[in-house]
Amino acid sequence: MAEMSEQLKMRERHDDEIIEENYYRLIGFVVDVIMEILRKVIISKIGHGGFQKFLNSQKHKMYHWWINNTQCCQCYGSIKLLGETELSRAQIACLFEIPVGDRAKPGHHKMKNGKTIQYCVCKFYAKVDVTTKELDLALACTILINCLSTKCNPLELKCIRTIKNLRNQISHVTCTQSLTSDEFNRVWEKLEYSILYLAKGVNENLHVEAQKSILSLKNRDLELKYCLKVHNILRIWEKRDTLLTEVILI
Ligand SMILES: [Zn+2]
Ligand SMILES: [Zn+2]
Repeated sequence: MAEMSEQLKMRERHDDEIIEENYYRLIGFVVDVIMEILRKVIISKIGHGGFQKFLNSQKHKMYHWWINNTQCCQCYGSIKLLGETELSRAQIACLFEIPVGDRAKPGHHKMKNGKTIQYCVCKFYAKVDVTTKELDLALACTILINCLSTKCNPLELKCIRTIKNLRNQISHVTCTQSLTSDEFNRVWEKLEYSILYLAKGVNENLHVEAQKSILSLKNRDLELKYCLKVHNILRIWEKRDTLLTEVILI
């Protein structure tokens, strides 16, 4: 009897360990493997010119994903602002120099009744040394969906949305023991299909690279250092995501 309960305990501990391992493997999949491939997908879809030049070409649009309820000096006519914040100040600050102080061009920053009714974005630029390393998954997906949609086919867009949604779901798994093996398999399969499809859209080399990375993640030992690293990256992304939009001072 005592022996049986001992066996049961061991099996339970074993199951717990597997669930915990699955959780960290899934985070590793998102923050390491998927993110690395998505960076390359973005670079390939941007084409010539580089990331910084691309960001500058999109800066007006991206500015209003953050400041969504006040027009800027480059809004012509009646621009339809989103009214919904797509990106936080912290996410924008990863990619752009946010002008502070009195750096508005004369007449570009307009006030009415003590309230700013127009910001100046003339000195809002992509950071000089910006690279795709600064991207988190939400930023990468937002850029692909909103700036590069014409370079994506409908299934690619669907895959990007799937990855974005699943990333959000993984973030909501607060307790490492709450992810069943079935859920893990379901999420993993969807992520794997999506990122492999996106990689294949770039070229066969990236497709093979993605397959190798996935295989090596599946087979690797999850040492504590790795678990802490990937978990920490996910928490940094979440913190950026949820920071409230602050009114900029120009
Ligand atoms: Zn504007
Ligand atoms: Zn201006």
